[in-house]
Amino acid sequence: MVPLTNKVLVVGAGFAGLIAARELRAAGSEVEIFEARDRIGGRAWTEQRMGYTLELGATWVHWMQPFVWSEIVRYGQTIYPSPEYERAYWLGGGVLHEGAEDDLDATLQRPQAKIFEGSAEFFPYPHDPLYVLSPDYAGPADVPGRFRAADQGSVLDALRDGTFSQEEIDVCDAYWAAGYNGDPATASPLMAKHWAALSDHRLSLLDEQTLKFKLTDGMRGLYEAIAADLRCPIHLSTPVSRVEHGQDGARITLEDGSVREADAVIVTVPIGALGQVEFAPELPRPMRRVVDERTNSTGFKIWIKIEGHHSFIATAPGQSPIAMTKSEYFLDDGTTILVGFGPDHTKINLQDTAQVQQILRQWRPDLTVVDCDGHDWCADPWSGETWATVKSGQFTDGWHHFHNTDSRLYFAGADFAKGWNGVVVDGAIEMGITAARRVLRELG
Ligand SMILES: Cc1cc2nc3c(=O)[nH]c(=O)nc-3n(C[C@H](O)[C@H](O)[C@H](O)COP(=O)(O)OP(=O)(O)OC[C@H]3O[C@@H](n4cnc5c(N)ncnc54)[C@H](O)[C@@H]3O)c2cc1C
Repeated sequence: MVPLTNKVLVVGAGFAGLIAARELRAAGSEVEIFEARDRIGGRAWTEQRMGYTLELGATWVHWMQPFVWSEIVRYGQTIYPSPEYERAYWLGGGVLHEGAEDDLDATLQRPQAKIFEGSAEFFPYPHDPLYVLSPDYAGPADVPGRFRAADQGSVLDALRDGTFSQEEIDVCDAYWAAGYNGDPATASPLMAKHWAALSDHRLSLLDEQTLKFKLTDGMRGLYEAIAADLRCPIHLSTPVSRVEHGQDGARITLEDGSVREADAVIVTVPIGALGQVEFAPELPRPMRRVVDERTNSTGFKIWIKIEGHHSFIATAPGQSPIAMTKSEYFLDDGTTILVGFGPDHTKINLQDTAQVQQILRQWRPDLTVVDCDGHDWCADPWSGETWATVKSGQFTDGWHHFHNTDSRLYFAGADFAKGWNGVVVDGAIEMGITAARRVLRELG
């Protein structure tokens, strides 16, 4: 047994917290995890709903997401694809269009290429996303200025030069309302370009990385495998309300008023829930501002069960509560389960079949909704958001401030990742590893 050298407290038992704890424990640190919920996994949550095993949070993974793929291999997990779609429906320019999936993809090609413009020069190293602003950057002198400018405005601004049809603008509006899981009008254009750079600048690879391959045993198979490797206590239903941090150590206060002390604390709380934790000394102003502004993530994910087997994908811009929905499971009882995403969680009741039936009518009046369900992550006090996406201005002045702590307080969590920032489990694992290694380095 490795002798324990120092003590680290980890706040949160999502992927970032579990991985940080594993890394620290393997290096001989004493670790305790404090988790507000009565379960581990955080924004990954595999559950029985509507008679089927569903992912209420994270679903899709990919071998080009290096950190999560390494854990998938390590724990012997396997993947399988989401289905292809026989039909596609898209509302654009006030008209309902119908075709094959390839027809919808073809409509997206030209405007998405415009949205991705600059991805190669802005992100020569996609896992070092602010490289062009760093002293090491030696490329064209105008790139840093254009990079900062591209962080302003909306992801859809690129399409307002008069050369794109309303149909093209509307399919992109729907795509990014789902992708940013929030209003595209306030979404930083840089994030879309960063996603493109992480996907070899190809829309098809971006779609494949974010919407194609699922874990056979679900996210639960992965987070439970990691937790089974931990040799440290995980205190469930134990929210942390206060974090004190200094040069020599850290203290956390639990909701019942009890206090724990350690050499360091790693906080993996999502940005949307950080406002509930009191920090002493207070977080520096740039971090505080991000906590107050939050992210662009105000949306939802919904599961919808319909009568019959129907294989399709459908998108709608603007006013439609659901921006994108697609067939995901064809059940033996003759029903289909669709997954859907929309930008505003206040516009939908995730359990209201009548409302969802009404929304589906815009594409398919013949469909009958028998059930629907989901978890309202934005209303959930322990997340306050779905996957963290970047508001205008926050790509260059936001998440990265959380890397710059100068006490024994460290932040981990997908929301602060350099690679797949905010969006996927990959980023949570990246941060769990890098925060733990930083703690080990600094504690000696
Ligand atoms: C609807 C949805 C769909 C998604 N789809 C995908 C996908 O398809 N693929 C993918 O890879 N990713 C997806 N994601 C993103 C992915 O789930 C997250 O990026 C990842 O799980 C975040 O892990 P984390 O450890 O950083 O944060 P979290 O998982 O949020 O973990 C943080 C933990 O901290 C706890 N906590 C919060 N406040 C406190 C407190 N005060 N005291 C103690 N504990 C606290 C929380 O309860 C939580 O367990 C999706 C997310 C959502 C919500």
